[in-house]
Amino acid sequence: MLTLGIETSCDETGVALFDDQQGLLAHALFSQIDMHADYGGVVPELASRDHVRKLLPLCEQVLAQAGRQRSDIEGIAYTAGPGLVGALMVGGSVAHALGYALGVPVLGVHHMEGHLLAPMLEDNPPAFPFVALLVSGGHTQLVRVDGIGEYQLLGESVDDAAGEAFDKTAKMLGLDYPGGPRVAALAEQGRAGQYRFPRPMTDRPGLDFSFSGLKTFTLNTVNDAADKGQLDDQVRADIALAFEAAVVDTLVIKCRRALEHTGCKRLVMAGGVSANKRLRAALEAMAGKLGSTVFYARPEFCTDNGAMIAYAGAQRLKHGQRDGERIVAVPRWPMNTLPPVAEPRSN
Ligand code: ATP
Ligand code: MG
Ligand code: FE
Repeated sequence: MLTLGIETSCDETGVALFDDQQGLLAHALFSQIDMHADYGGVVPELASRDHVRKLLPLCEQVLAQAGRQRSDIEGIAYTAGPGLVGALMVGGSVAHALGYALGVPVLGVHHMEGHLLAPMLEDNPPAFPFVALLVSGGHTQLVRVDGIGEYQLLGESVDDAAGEAFDKTAKMLGLDYPGGPRVAALAEQGRAGQYRFPRPMTDRPGLDFSFSGLKTFTLNTVNDAADKGQLDDQVRADIALAFEAAVVDTLVIKCRRALEHTGCKRLVMAGGVSANKRLRAALEAMAGKLGSTVFYARPEFCTDNGAMIAYAGAQRLKHGQRDGERIVAVPRWPMNTLPPVAEPRSN
């Protein structure tokens, strides 16, 4: 089954073609980052309008890349939420119009299920069950995954997401959006041990996270250094490193607990922050000691993309799941309300 995947939940227009026999055939992404940069954040109305401009050309582009015709498409998956409602409506409208014209099934997909399943597009995909760490711009969650649509929330952030904390720290350090990769790059120049940041909520049991206190701690540290006239490039890098180390440590501690608590031997990391090299290395070191394995997607499939939506949609479309006639756009949507997909399990 050849599935067209469409992602328009925020500021990235992503399109991909996934074939369940041949795998991922093509994918294309247009990021609106430059457009929103002048405003210091994503402007929803501008995002929607730009998805309108980019979506059909990107669909044509992936078809050309894959050497396929529109009439070869057998199913269409689009991000139905969570996300910006106007942006979601663009993807949903195009998906439904195209599905109607081609006479093929259409399905609204959960954006975080897309992130969660993105590592399945790599060689040696993880088998079920596994623990998933979802770390993105809007979510920080630990989920026990027993199959597609079989999600048990183990813990989540009670305030900011890890990616959001990276983005806010970047702003404090005078770096552009999206801040995660820029903070990580600056941290490369940092000297270890110059600052010690807290590891929030690690001193008590449980699998929830909190990153807003860390953000305040960072702000106080930056202001303090500025007041003393010490906030030069080296000190900025030292702060970036101390911040990153605190986030990484916190995530590692909670992931270790989740692996121990569930007895799972596989840890999947997904979402934009899973592109972070220090986080990958630290999780691998921790998992190695427990005899567990870590799985993640290639960096371009950690952040928003059409491939993950094509893949997630294909798994459900092939089991007959599909939308009715209405476009689905759900700005807030808990992932554990998704229906399961019955599949034989490996163990
Ligand atoms: P959500 O998926 O929760 O709706 P989103 O789609 O905005 O939110 P993603 O696209 O998954 O989030 O990821 C973007 C986030 O990942 C941003 O906060 C960005 O700063 C962060 N990020 C990307 N690369 C890195 C990195 N190398 N290190 C740390 N953070 C990173
Ligand atoms: Mg984005
Ligand atoms: Fe995302």
